Amino acid sequence: MNQNPPACSVQNLTRIFGSADQPVVAVDDVTVAIGKGSFTAVMGPSGSGKSTLMHCMAGLDRPTRGEVFIGNENIARLPEKAVTRVRRDSVGFVFQSFNLLPTLTAEQNILLPLELAGRRVDRAVFNELTTSLGLTDRLRHRPSQLSGGQQQRVAVARAMMSDPEVVFADEPTGALDQRTGTALLEYLQRRSRQHGQTII
Ligand code: ADP
Ligand code: MG
Repeated sequence: MNQNPPACSVQNLTRIFGSADQPVVAVDDVTVAIGKGSFTAVMGPSGSGKSTLMHCMAGLDRPTRGEVFIGNENIARLPEKAVTRVRRDSVGFVFQSFNLLPTLTAEQNILLPLELAGRRVDRAVFNELTTSLGLTDRLRHRPSQLSGGQQQRVAVARAMMSDPEVVFADEPTGALDQRTGTALLEYLQRRSRQHGQTII
């Protein structure tokens, strides 16, 4: 076993959608390793396969071919139940469209993954995260009562609450105005540097 593996890596990853007679090759034989604590940007034009790559790396989608490692665990070879566990324990995901649950408060949204996993909530981590994200006076609000930037900061706190091996953020600023988006990217970069959080 690799004693100091990258946080996440893929080998010869291919993902093909569609039927055999009309295949869409979304990701074509990609090999990449993401170092622990790094802040990595995946860049390319619309439709070039960025989301598909990240979904496969995060265990949200299955590759057609190839290997996907989160730490030492090859999730491409694990049964679905085990992938769900790795995703829950080792991965955070931030979507462009926030994906918060509308009936829950900000605090409940942030804590939901830990509660579903039956894991203890570390209040110190919760307080530190929500303070650094400027959310302390918004914790009892529902998503509809929050601005886009605030909703995305709730989603970031939710993704980071479990101290995951990797946080994936797929165009996290795509629904935000430029100033709010820049501030969010700066936060993610600072978080990576100060806490050694791997962010893609
Ligand atoms: P990006 O995130 O870089 O814009 P995507 O990964 O979303 O690119 O898409 C890559 C290619 O795969 C596109 O041609 C897209 O139409 C196709 N694709 C993505 N998801 C699906 C799907 N679920 N079914 C069929 N084709 C898909
Ligand atoms: Mg995309």
